[in-house]
Amino acid sequence: TYAWFSQRAWVEIDLGALSHNVQQLVQFLSPRTQLMAVVKADAYGHGAVTIAQTVLQSGASWLGVATVPEGIQLREAGIEAPILILGATHTPEQIHAIAHWKLQPTLCSPKQALIFSNVLEAINYGFPVPIHIKLDTGMSRLGTDWQQAAEFVQLVQRLPHLTIASIYSHLATADSLDPTVMQEQHRRFEQAIAQLKEIGIKIPCLHLANSAATLTDSALHYDIVRVGLAVYGLYPAAHLHTAIHLKPVLQLKARVTQVKTIAAGTGVSYSHKFIAPHELRLAVVGIGYADGVPRNLSQNMQVLIRGQRVPQIGTITMDQLMLDVSAIPDLQEGEIVTLLGEQGKEQISANDWAEQLNTISWEILCGFKHRLPRVAV
Ligand code: PLP
Repeated sequence: TYAWFSQRAWVEIDLGALSHNVQQLVQFLSPRTQLMAVVKADAYGHGAVTIAQTVLQSGASWLGVATVPEGIQLREAGIEAPILILGATHTPEQIHAIAHWKLQPTLCSPKQALIFSNVLEAINYGFPVPIHIKLDTGMSRLGTDWQQAAEFVQLVQRLPHLTIASIYSHLATADSLDPTVMQEQHRRFEQAIAQLKEIGIKIPCLHLANSAATLTDSALHYDIVRVGLAVYGLYPAAHLHTAIHLKPVLQLKARVTQVKTIAAGTGVSYSHKFIAPHELRLAVVGIGYADGVPRNLSQNMQVLIRGQRVPQIGTITMDQLMLDVSAIPDLQEGEIVTLLGEQGKEQISANDWAEQLNTISWEILCGFKHRLPRVAV
């Protein structure tokens, strides 16, 4: 039968591993600290709705997304947990949607706060919208400069229709072995909070830590930690492996679609960058760069078949790639190839790809395209 052709390639999502990671994180945190699972960018490519439902069942209490549509997608799926939009929102359409879907925006400047309040006033919105104040303590991305925290918070307090749910900042170097910059950001955050306290402002909730900071130092945990990468089972840096035990959630799999023997001297794939040095067994696999297998991995990657490492040969094409499977002479068409994940004792991780491509595992995970079905196991 050819039933297997219906799944030429897919992303496999291990919900057991996901639950495990969330439980490990929750156990690692003090009872004072809640876990926000960051599920932006379709849950780092894992499929936002399924991931959100599972993390909430496993002990996370908040969800973090980047955009309004990402938040609406979760609400439409019936998810009721608080959802923080980490990105900037300004337009009336975004603000209406935030109010309607009970999403919680990040406010990063006085101008944005005024726009929010005016738009909510114009529709005579009846409830205060919980907002989260973003301070820039050194990332130089979204947020008001930490030294202006008091003025900003006082302005927001005076504006109708808004209620401050939290004050937060984001760290630029938490995955670095050198803690200097992170410590300085921490000091600035503390100083901003101390100034607010001095002028009698009651701070509802504070958060600062991403995955790396969460695994590094409990002094950075505050009331919520915003964890992305570690939820998906990857460590943000090699030196953080010891903190807790995480299991990768995502595996990338595809099928062998054809097996053939090629003679010595035969060129393989576009531009014939690979010439068979001797007769070899070649397998074609139904996955390519249009699925998110970076073309720059060509001839530099291995895959797993029957628990064995197998080299990829020739240029990776849009929908297919080729392997030298001479080591598995009886390989059958339809057999499963693991590009990322585990087979027996062998494992290939998004970190391995990231290292080869001089990038980070976050980018690898977010790179898998929508034509790959996400299959929960
Ligand atoms: N908080 C904010 C503001 C972010 O932008 C991100 C992701 O980039 C996170 C938390 C989660 O980061 P990580 O995946 O390193 O845990």
